[in-house]
Amino acid sequence: MNNQYLCPYCRGHIRVGDYIVFKIRNTRREKGLLLVHPEVGNYSSIKHPLFHFEEGERIDFFCPLCLQSLDAEVDENLVHVVMVDELQTEHEIYFSRIAGEQSTYQVSEEGIKATGEHSHRYTIFKMSDELFQYLDN
Ligand SMILES: [Zn+2]
Repeated sequence: MNNQYLCPYCRGHIRVGDYIVFKIRNTRREKGLLLVHPEVGNYSSIKHPLFHFEEGERIDFFCPLCLQSLDAEVDENLVHVVMVDELQTEHEIYFSRIAGEQSTYQVSEEGIKATGEHSHRYTIFKMSDELFQYLDN
């Protein structure tokens, strides 16, 4: 699993070793770092024990390099990063920034893959998926 992750703005590498590194901010505007597993659909993450957020809290994600907000344009509750797979194919990755919500979407020319038990919540991708299928037929 050698997927690389890039910031969509500065194209800097935000995966280091076994983690993707994000600068985050909770709703009390406290800042922290979050390490996220690079496997799509794996929601394990690490943060400093003194940095807190609650289930359901909306977390702001930023590129740790250029500090740009990673809010997705398609939905304000999603974060957007670029993933480059082993075949050098680029995928747009969208995942929920609501703590505890497991929704990830992998979008490329091959179509849309949704993972996570809450992925039905963001219907924008469901609709596009149907559109893709319609175009394929
Ligand atoms: Zn950046």
